[in-house]
Amino acid sequence: MRSIEDIFPLLAQPRTIVITTHQKPDADAMGSSLAMRHFLVQLGHSVTVISPTNWASWVNWMPGCKEVIDFELYKEKANTALDKAEWLLCLDFNAFDRVKNMQDKLRSLQCTKILIDHHHQPDEASFDYGISDVSKSSTCEMIYDFIIKSGHNDKINEEIGECIYAGVIGDTGSFRFSSTHAGVHKLVADLKSRGLDHEQVHHELFDNFLENRLRFIGHVLLHRMEVFYEYNTVLIAIPKSDLLKFGIKTGDTEGLINYPQTIQGIKLVAIVIDRDEERKWSFRSKGNFDCNSFARKYFNGGGHFNASGGHSNDSLDVTVKKFMQAIKENEEILQ
Ligand code: 5GP
Ligand code: MN
Repeated sequence: MRSIEDIFPLLAQPRTIVITTHQKPDADAMGSSLAMRHFLVQLGHSVTVISPTNWASWVNWMPGCKEVIDFELYKEKANTALDKAEWLLCLDFNAFDRVKNMQDKLRSLQCTKILIDHHHQPDEASFDYGISDVSKSSTCEMIYDFIIKSGHNDKINEEIGECIYAGVIGDTGSFRFSSTHAGVHKLVADLKSRGLDHEQVHHELFDNFLENRLRFIGHVLLHRMEVFYEYNTVLIAIPKSDLLKFGIKTGDTEGLINYPQTIQGIKLVAIVIDRDEERKWSFRSKGNFDCNSFARKYFNGGGHFNASGGHSNDSLDVTVKKFMQAIKENEEILQ
């Protein structure tokens, strides 16, 4: 994989570009994709954003979101765009197994593939150009760097600012995670000086749920949360019947994992959700527990040191049993 800077001189010539990101895109994934699109369009490129799956309704407000193609819903249209692409930009993921049903298609493409991402262990062999930097707070921060470093400071407009800010907020937990280095605050100061309405972005992201989601959280915290003080671990296992009962949609479970982290002394929080096709795991840790390695070792996943995810084809009961065995094996580090 060649350095991302080698792509900068090539930006001058208009091209047909597809931007894609990981399945079930969150604020950073969608924000970085749309910010990049708004930037490249200003340079005269023809740009399509494709999401491997559907996404949470709380990113619909992002400028340009209405034109994003859901690969699962509009496969033909997405494949046509992919076949025409001269460049494929892969943002906020670093291996093709993160794009679900789109992975075979992406692997088969002969176009130039470019990676911009901040997760551990990138599959560098799959990309022609790229940057992978785990010290970055978010992929949105990396898009901001990309625009500035390629010499296009003047192109950061209101739309780009909103998208970037949303991703930074999402991935830093509103500036609380250790990934929030000084440069993140400088970036936000810069966006503010360009007119960013940060309050509106917070409102769109956090104050736009329906009542059912709050009732669901109450139910889950009361009935599905187990605290294992001997391992300083909290587990929440959510059966499909809960999702159906409360009418839970993509994105409604975002943020749920933060509540158990507020319990004194807890080092690891794990949530598993019984989705139709798989059991989806999320992990969050405090301190020296490495969620990325844990997710990779036991649950086909990965991510960051203190935040990761994974998945399993086992039933909910079986995957929960495996989790209990896994935390037993990690008992020492959880003390
Ligand atoms: P979340 O729990 O919010 O879904 O994900 C936490 C972090 O782990 C995110 O950075 C996400 O990209 C990553 N992640 C979630 N699920 C998976 C997975 O199945 N595989 C990998 N490699 N990373 C994941
Ligand atoms: Mn991210």
